[in-house]
Amino acid sequence: MAPFANRCIKCDSCQKACPVVTIEGLRSFSGPRGLAVDSSRFPEDAEALRDNLYKCTACFRCGDVCPARLPLTGQIMALRRSIFAKDKALGGHARILANIDQHRRSIEPAARRPEAKPSDAKLLYFPGCIAENRLPIIYQSTASLLTKGKAAFRVPERWSCCGAPLEKVGDSERLRLVREENLRFFDGFERLVTSCPGCTTHFIQDYGLEPLHTIELLYEVVGVRKLPALPSHRKVKVALHQPCHLARTVGQHVIDYAAEILQRLPGVRLVEMEDADRCCGGGGGVVAGHPDVALALAKAKVESAKRAKADLIVAPCPFCVMNISRAGGVETVDFTNFLDARLK
Ligand code: SF4
Ligand code: SF4
Repeated sequence: MAPFANRCIKCDSCQKACPVVTIEGLRSFSGPRGLAVDSSRFPEDAEALRDNLYKCTACFRCGDVCPARLPLTGQIMALRRSIFAKDKALGGHARILANIDQHRRSIEPAARRPEAKPSDAKLLYFPGCIAENRLPIIYQSTASLLTKGKAAFRVPERWSCCGAPLEKVGDSERLRLVREENLRFFDGFERLVTSCPGCTTHFIQDYGLEPLHTIELLYEVVGVRKLPALPSHRKVKVALHQPCHLARTVGQHVIDYAAEILQRLPGVRLVEMEDADRCCGGGGGVVAGHPDVALALAKAKVESAKRAKADLIVAPCPFCVMNISRAGGVETVDFTNFLDARLK
């Protein structure tokens, strides 16, 4: 096969689709073509692109629109690995590494965390760092939904961050370590379910597992008929945000499931939000490395929801809920939290 760079037909589709280019402009951000294609000719110069490389939210949109089917996001992550191998000083990202070393979580653990009850259930629920430590309502709502759907589950007594944030930083060595730990801790499970699409994607791509996101489990295994909605509820216009790692890497079917589930709920009206699948800025380690870029993307998402006249943004991803909420202006809640409150 021709070298990576020679397969690019210079159509600029990726540049036009990139959410960070839209926010930053091509003067401040080289865009997917500049980062993944041009720099692949001179990988030794990747260091000069460091700032740019860490502004990418790893949203996979560029590769999706590329007619040459170039794995642009993968190439950007490979360049991050080469930078990390040479120079581990990473500004905002150093905190992630310190937390992993100290707590086996990508963020500092909360003083009070939901407790894992011992069980021999074969369904393993992996809450992820945010649902355990920043938005425990997601952990509690998921546990409640699984209980309502009569799906016996357990949370592993011990677990480490899945490693997705380490991949985004470029730290292959710690990544290997947490992967090996988790595969030991997960011993004896038959099915794995996760709250965070970033974890779902990472377990698929890096561990070779076949996890389900909560929405897939509810739809495909529990069955939506087993989750009867409360007959009446406050009327609300909902904009469904489509997290990148759900819509583009796990699959569009999960978004279809989510929309169908929401539409079954009395009082809920789904409104069409322009660019619902555009990245909110919550991924790729950008919140830690370039919080201004992450916030600008979150504000753009809120503006889209306002234009759609939504009362509420529902986001099936803990990272997206956290980041969009930073922008304020329209309330943002996690899918499981919203659904659980409207079921019997
Ligand atoms: S992955 Fe997303 S943010 Fe990164 S370069 Fe591609 S389109 Fe832009
Ligand atoms: S979309 Fe693909 S082919 Fe077109 S410029 Fe970008 S990398 Fe090149």
